[in-house]
Amino acid sequence: MEKRIPIIAGNWKMHLNLASAKELIDEIKKTVMHTRDREVLVAPPFVYLISVREFIADSAIYLSAQNMHWDEKGAYTGEISASMLIEAGCTHVILGHSERRHLFGETDDFIDLKVKMAHQSGIKPILCIGEDLSQRENGETFEVIKSQLEGSLKSFIEQRTTPYDLIIAYEPVWAIGTGQTATPDQAQEVHCFIRQWIGDTFGRELSGKIRILYGGSVKPANISELMAQPDIDGVLVGGASLNAEQFIPIINYDKKEG
Ligand code: PEP
Repeated sequence: MEKRIPIIAGNWKMHLNLASAKELIDEIKKTVMHTRDREVLVAPPFVYLISVREFIADSAIYLSAQNMHWDEKGAYTGEISASMLIEAGCTHVILGHSERRHLFGETDDFIDLKVKMAHQSGIKPILCIGEDLSQRENGETFEVIKSQLEGSLKSFIEQRTTPYDLIIAYEPVWAIGTGQTATPDQAQEVHCFIRQWIGDTFGRELSGKIRILYGGSVKPANISELMAQPDIDGVLVGGASLNAEQFIPIINYDKKEG
């Protein structure tokens, strides 16, 4: 089976300022210099992207945006296109984060268009999916995940094309920013389901290669156990990615060779 390089991604959301971003990047750079078996990525707010591109220059840190628009250009006040992100140095873009879905009304239809545009433009989409608490308690987790995958990847399914650069982040909404992490078994169960769905929909080659990240209150204390699961290929970290004391040990988690 093909080796999947783990990804440790930090989603800064609407946090930090330029000075604290620089300090944090300087610390991450020191660690990343000695880390070759995993990819590290940061997702700053839009206005900091160009500065952070300079901060990470000469390092192996990747730059991601937190969102983008689905169209190439147009009268979309307040929006940013894929080509603008690429010009700003982004290699990745987070799409369909649960905060975008729940606070800003983003639907699977919009997310599908965004994933398609990212793919066409050459910026790697990190597609976020996950059930909320009531859906989990009602036993609807797999149904919700399947429906989000079908909806957010509708264009690929209909056009019979393969999203070969796709990264998926499974983020149970009840675990985001709550301090309540999914247990490694709970996360593994859903990751395995996602990989199976990818295989059934796009073929085994992609399902063997695709990286599926876990997100939801990842901390230095739980990273190694999560990463020891066979279908967890990395993490998307919110709160704990904002300071070096927590993010560096997450980057340096103990990797168990399987
Ligand atoms: C996130 O927002 O993607 C996230 C996982 O946040 P936190 O790590 O704070 O739960």
